[in-house]
Amino acid sequence: MPALEDSIRFVKGVGPKKAALFEKLHIRTLRDALETYPRDYEDRSVITSIADIAEDGKYAVRAVVGTEPKTTRIRKGMTLVKCTIFDQSGSLPVTYFNNPYAAALLRVGQEYVFYGRVQINGHARMLVSPQSEKVSPDAAHPGRIVPVYPLTAGLTQRDMARVTEAALDAVPGDWPDPLPEVLRARYTLPDAADALAAIHRPQSAQDVTEARRRMVFEELFLLCCGLQQLKERRRADTGLVFSDSSLADFFAALPFSPTGAQRRAIGVIASDCASGRPMNRLVQGDVGSGKTVVAAALCALAAKSGYQAAFMAPTEILAAQHAETLAPLLATLGISCTLLTGSMNAAQKRAALAAIESGAAQVVIGTHALIQQSVNFYRLSAVVADEQHRFGVAQRAALSAKGQTPHVLVMSATPIPRTLALILYGDLDVSVLDEVPPGRQPVETYAVGENMRRRITAFIDKQIREGGQVYVVCPLVEEGEMNLKSAEQHALDLQKTLPHRRVAVLHGRMKSAEKERVMQAFAAKEYDILVATTVIEVGVDVPNANLMVVEDADRFGLSQLHQLRGRVGRGTRQSYCIFFGADKGQTARERLKILCKTNDGFEIARADLSQRGPGDFFGRRQHGLPALHVADPIADLALMRSAREEAEQILQADPTLAGYPELRARVHRMFEERDDEAFN
Ligand code: ADP
Ligand code: MG
Repeated sequence: MPALEDSIRFVKGVGPKKAALFEKLHIRTLRDALETYPRDYEDRSVITSIADIAEDGKYAVRAVVGTEPKTTRIRKGMTLVKCTIFDQSGSLPVTYFNNPYAAALLRVGQEYVFYGRVQINGHARMLVSPQSEKVSPDAAHPGRIVPVYPLTAGLTQRDMARVTEAALDAVPGDWPDPLPEVLRARYTLPDAADALAAIHRPQSAQDVTEARRRMVFEELFLLCCGLQQLKERRRADTGLVFSDSSLADFFAALPFSPTGAQRRAIGVIASDCASGRPMNRLVQGDVGSGKTVVAAALCALAAKSGYQAAFMAPTEILAAQHAETLAPLLATLGISCTLLTGSMNAAQKRAALAAIESGAAQVVIGTHALIQQSVNFYRLSAVVADEQHRFGVAQRAALSAKGQTPHVLVMSATPIPRTLALILYGDLDVSVLDEVPPGRQPVETYAVGENMRRRITAFIDKQIREGGQVYVVCPLVEEGEMNLKSAEQHALDLQKTLPHRRVAVLHGRMKSAEKERVMQAFAAKEYDILVATTVIEVGVDVPNANLMVVEDADRFGLSQLHQLRGRVGRGTRQSYCIFFGADKGQTARERLKILCKTNDGFEIARADLSQRGPGDFFGRRQHGLPALHVADPIADLALMRSAREEAEQILQADPTLAGYPELRARVHRMFEERDDEAFN
C-alpha cells in the first residue's frame, strides 16, 4: 500500500522524465499531487445538439460517426484527419491535426460523446481535435465532470489523472481533518477525505461546489488562524521609544521638497516610534509616488536616537540602488550606511558584517541576505521591507526577530481594496501616498501590433538621438514557447537593426555582480537600450530613461505592466510606453487599452481583478501572504468573514491550538517559508 509521502515515481507510467516534469509543478510526492487541485472542470454531462451550436466554444456533442476518417498529409510530417459526425439535429465536420491515433479509434456508425472546441468561420463550423468516449448501450448518461489540472509542456491531463488517482488510493481511512467537527457541522461542510475525493473525482457539479466550499473555508480558516496568532504575538510587545523625533534636518537634507503625502506619512511614523508601542505600518503608494524617502526618514530617526535600522529590498539591483541614493543623503546628517548582499565577495562581506555588529553601520541596506544567521545587528530598532509583496510573511518576521520588537515599515505599490486590507492585515496601520511628486508628465502609452514594428524601431532611435534611453522588456520564455522573443535573442536582433546604438541585456539567470554592472552602466548612460526580463519590474530608478517598449505585453498582468511602466516618467523628459501584443485578439487589445487610458494604479488593479479574475492577483506575489490556492478573498468574502470570526474564537479559548494538533500543524505548514521562490 503506497503512502502519501511516497514519490510519484512509484506510480505506474511515471519514469524519470515525467517525474522531472511533475517536479516543475512542485509535485514530488503523492501528497503534492493530492494538493494540486484542478484549475477548472469540463462539464461533459451537458450535451448540446449540433444544430444549437452557434458560437465558438467548447461543447459536448453526442453523435454518430457518419464518414470514414480520411487522412491527408499537409506539410512535412503534418497530418490532417477529417470526418463527419451527426445527431438528430444536424451534422458537423471533425478535424484532427497531427493526431492520427485519436481518429483511428473512431468507427463509422458508432455513437460517441465528443468533447472539444468548435470553431466557426462564417457559416462553416468545425469541431477541432475533440476527445471522444464511446457510448455503450448500458450507460444511461455517458457525460462526466472532468477535472482539468494545471499542466506544463510534456504532461497531459491523463498523466495528472493517473497520479491523483494513485494519491487518492493512498489516503488512509483515518485521514485527519484540520477543521474541528463543530465548525463542519455549523457550516455544513463535508469532511476532508470526502472533499478531496470530490475535488479530484467528482460525480456531479453539486459535488464540486460543496467540496470547493469546504476547501475555501479551510484555507481561509487556516490563514486567519495564522494571521491572528502573528497579531497576538505583536500586540503583547512593547515598542522601543525614539528619543529624538525631530525631522527638520532630514527635510532640509532632501534635494527636493517632499510632497504633502510624504510629509504626512513621515510625521505619523515619527509619532508611532515615540509612542511606546511597536509600529506596524504599511505605506501604500503607486509607482513613483516616492516611498523610498519615507523609509529613509525612518532610518534617519532610528540612527539619531542611537539605534540601527535595516532596509530590505527584494533584488540585488534594487538594494544597490537604494544604497547609492540613501548613503549620500544620510551622510549629510552624519549617518553611516552599509550594503549587504549575497553576491559580495568574502572580504566585503566580512567588513560589512563587522560594521553591522559593532554599530559602525547605523543603516544597513540589503537583500534577504540580511536575515541570514551570520548577521548580528547592533540595537536593531527599525525594519523596512520594500516592495513587501515580494517577501513572505516569514521572511519579514525573520528580519524583525533580529532585533527586539523593532518598528516595522512595509512598502507596497500594490493597491488592495480597503475592506480586504482590513481583513487580511487587521491591525496593520496604513499610510497612503496619494500624491505624485510635482513636475511629472504622464507617460504617453500606446498599444500596438506587429505592423507598427518599423515605426517603433525608428521611434526608439529618435528618442536616443534626443538624449533619452530605452528599456525593452521581454517575457520569460519557457521551454517550447517558440513564438515569443527571449531577451537575449531580442537584444541581438535590436543591435543588428540599430548597429550605431549600444544595447545591453539583463535577465534573471545572469550573476548578480554582472546584473549590477549592467544596471549601473545603463544608469551612467554607457548604454542606450536595456533589453531585460521583468527583473527591472520593481523599483529600478533611471530618470533619464524615457521610453519603455514591452514585447508580448499580452503575456503580463495589467498591474504588472503598470508597475513596469513606472520605470519611465521619472525625469522631466516626456516619456512613452509602448505595448506590443495589441494584434493578439480582441481581449488582449481591450486589456492593453485600459493602460493607455489611465495612469491610476488603483483603477488598473480594479480592472485587472474584474478581467482576469482574482486568482492571479491574490497569488503570493501580490501581497506577501501565503498563497491561496482555492479561495478568492473577494468572491468568498462572506466565508472569509466567518472564517475570521471562528479563528478569533478558537484562539481566544486556546491560543496555541494545543487541543487541535492537526489544525496547528497545518497552520504552521501554511506559513512556512518556501525557499524555492525566485526573487530575481
Ligand atoms: P516609489 O514609490 O516607486 O518607490 P521612488 O521612491 O523610487 O518611488 O521615487 C521615484 C523618484 O521620484 C525618485 O527619483 C525620487 O528621487 C523622486 N522623488 C521622490 N519624492 C520626490 C519629491 N517630493 N519631489 C521630487 N522628486 C521626488
Ligand atoms: Mg520603490
